[in-house]
Amino acid sequence: MEIQTVSRRLCPLCGSAGELLYEDLEDNLFRAPGKWRLRRCPNAECGLCWLDPVAREADLQLLYENYYTHDGRDAFSGFRAKLRSFFLNGYESAKWLSSRALGLAQEKRKLLNMFLDDWLPPGRILDVGCGSGDFLYRMYQLGWSVSGVDFDDKAIANAKDKYGKLGFELLHNDLAGARFPDNSFEAVTMNHVIEHVPEPVSLLSEVNRVLKPGGRLVAITPNAQSLGHALFRDCWRGLEPPRHLQIFSLNALGYCARQASFKTVLVKSSAANADIIVGASFGIRKARQQMTVSRAGHEINMLRALRSCLIQYREALLLHKQPNCGEEAILICHK
Ligand SMILES: [Zn+2]
Repeated sequence: MEIQTVSRRLCPLCGSAGELLYEDLEDNLFRAPGKWRLRRCPNAECGLCWLDPVAREADLQLLYENYYTHDGRDAFSGFRAKLRSFFLNGYESAKWLSSRALGLAQEKRKLLNMFLDDWLPPGRILDVGCGSGDFLYRMYQLGWSVSGVDFDDKAIANAKDKYGKLGFELLHNDLAGARFPDNSFEAVTMNHVIEHVPEPVSLLSEVNRVLKPGGRLVAITPNAQSLGHALFRDCWRGLEPPRHLQIFSLNALGYCARQASFKTVLVKSSAANADIIVGASFGIRKARQQMTVSRAGHEINMLRALRSCLIQYREALLLHKQPNCGEEAILICHK
């Protein structure tokens, strides 16, 4: 499988010449071929990191051949599934008090509902990059009318299998291709999507068009300025070469939203999922050392879970002094 690429020497957001951040990056998660380079924008107002070169648009789907959304099954079954569930329940219980004290439990709940808890009454929601459709099901249960698009045909097929009978509108397309009428939705959500698309400003402009006046966009994406990135460098889970075409700083995310004509723009970072991202980064670091593929999602590793949890607490405390150090960047804006 040969992937054709195009070079991107200039920042896709502000046009500055990028400085080299990493080279010889490989896909230690889903075995897409190739070696990849990451550049960083020196403009302090921006700070975007981006892949150079990137797969040309016609070849992007080749990067997703082994992607996890293609497999509806759990990596664990039988006794291993029970053991994992026992371990996870114990882990969550042990973390309960400290997570509440640090505000992580409350923040995690907000993330699960994509910061739409306060939106009443529920209206029409569109999830861009809806994957398995599980988030839409959650919102459906809260009373929302739900629609989802995903350019990944296998992911949409899985979502239709699970939720098609409930009348969800699920389209195999990118957002522009779905051609929703102007002013269609009260809310549009994108959970770990904007880092995958070749033209993020165009995507947000299209979101702006399909939102009703006053409607809300919520986007979550890896944060290039996070503590995890500083600790794990080129092994950080948020980089995910070659599928993450850009990794945003908080400034870059706000810049992108303003270019797409959003009126009010709020950006912040969160440590609520830091244990998961850091745990996966440990897995990637080990895979790189052993020149293999990370099995972090298939292992039960208590020591790694404990170390990840401690880094999450450190990050949660650091956030008070350094609000841009969370693993995930969150964009909330209104039309
Ligand atoms: Zn830039």
